[in-house]
Amino acid sequence: MSQSLPDTSAEGVTRYGLFIGNQQIAPIEGEYLDVVNPATGRVWAQVPNASAKDVDAAVDSARRAFEEGDWPGYRAADRAKFLIRFGQAIADNADEIAQLQVGENGKLIREMVGQAKLMPEYFNYYAGLAQMPTGSTNPLHVQQMVNYTVREPLGVVAAITPWNSPLLLLVWKLGPALAAGNTVIAKPSEVTPVSAIRFAELAAEAGLPAGVFNVVTGLGHPSGTALTGHPGVDKVAFTGSTATGQAIASQAGKSLKRVSLELGGKSPNIVFDDADLTSAVNGLVAGIFGASGQTCMAGSRILVQDTIYDQVVEELVRRAEAIKVGDPQDPASEMGTIASRAQYDKVLSYIEVAKADGARLAAGGTTARVDGFPDGLFVRPTVFADVTNDMRIAREEVFGPIASVLRFSDEEDAVRIANDTEFGLAAGVWTGNVQRAHRVAGRLRAGTVWINNYRKTSYATPFGGYKQSGLGRENGADALREYTEEKSVWVDTGQGVKDPFNPRA
Ligand code: NAD
Repeated sequence: MSQSLPDTSAEGVTRYGLFIGNQQIAPIEGEYLDVVNPATGRVWAQVPNASAKDVDAAVDSARRAFEEGDWPGYRAADRAKFLIRFGQAIADNADEIAQLQVGENGKLIREMVGQAKLMPEYFNYYAGLAQMPTGSTNPLHVQQMVNYTVREPLGVVAAITPWNSPLLLLVWKLGPALAAGNTVIAKPSEVTPVSAIRFAELAAEAGLPAGVFNVVTGLGHPSGTALTGHPGVDKVAFTGSTATGQAIASQAGKSLKRVSLELGGKSPNIVFDDADLTSAVNGLVAGIFGASGQTCMAGSRILVQDTIYDQVVEELVRRAEAIKVGDPQDPASEMGTIASRAQYDKVLSYIEVAKADGARLAAGGTTARVDGFPDGLFVRPTVFADVTNDMRIAREEVFGPIASVLRFSDEEDAVRIANDTEFGLAAGVWTGNVQRAHRVAGRLRAGTVWINNYRKTSYATPFGGYKQSGLGRENGADALREYTEEKSVWVDTGQGVKDPFNPRA
């Protein structure tokens, strides 16, 4: 007998289904994964570990919705109206979707509510852009011919996302993908799958035709690999680690699927001795301890001019030790948990790596105890001083609350150290000298540079990486190009075909 989903057991564990064709359905092979609250250690949900057969069903649903039914007939104005309605549904349910994400990844409720409230703005922006002209009419070298271009949707988009900002990073893909007329299959992280299912339900309630937005939950393998290797998928939009991005790009390359990749970082946050130090230290704290350092744009390499090095380290240590690590649901907490046991073990192992490499532990360096949460995955804000750029703690992405503080002598030295990395996602520059600010920003090999601020993003401006931090850009007007093909159309207005062997005549 088929089970009606979602279904909550006597123990209070809710079992969810795959979201395909605007309904939750059980996985064909019946395999489920546990979802654990990282603050309490309690299993509170189960989701399908989608098999290749489930992925076939999702792709079939998305393909049919792309080719048949109501969606292909939607005009840009109809898609825009839908996006605005979906945004409204999110605003109306902001607290619920924020709570779900906190239960999945232990981030602060105040950050998750803030993100949820911002999501409608993304949809409003792409609703506007959906209705802008997309093509051109092109002057030609031949007479009595007209040539124009149109941008068309790619087809079925697989949106594969990580656990750190589960829904916001999905919105970055859904906004332009749906605005352009594609259909989407989301594959959220196995750590944070429930919020995506609820999100798809909200889209359906807001009137999205069945099959336009589907969710398959499960592990990178089999669920993710089945999607990226599927012939019915036209594009993979991925956010996650550089290693997974490389695997996806290779697999997608076999069928020349379109790919966009938002990957890891080891971003330098550079403080010159002419900076406003109060503001700079606030920016350093936000850069590495915001979201417990579990953000791709974390300012994890803090570069400080040697003339103010000791002063900045001292102040950073003072600030790190004052951070209130606590219950993520408590609005007064400033840092929540690490999102999963695996990530927690990874963060703690890097503390040992840094010590072994000779970095000086100046603050933190241990787990944190929080009253009432004996099984919570809390780590104290950690500062390593005297880090050099050859140490692993300066080269590898940790994705946790660990600041590495390096020393530089002058501008040339700062730029050299900052660019000496395989990543290129973001960078911060703190200086009171306006010429230096722009000069250094121009020399940094990073997709985003913040001058006298850090960690700002917007729907209106592109975000993405140089080097091994990614391929393509999300947000901003050009993101629509990542979800469209350009077609060139030639029209004969009277010259006729004169010479069949000379197309230029
Ligand atoms: P991850 O690469 O382990 O997983 C990301 C997603 O890919 C998950 O849904 C996972 O199930 C799936 N996946 C794993 N292997 C796969 C495969 N072979 N084929 C298809 N899908 C597969 O990353 P994570 O640990 O969830 O997230 C942390 C990483 O994400 C960090 O490296 C971080 O820097 C990066 N990140 C980047 C950005 C950005 O915008 N640049 C934003 C947030 C996070």
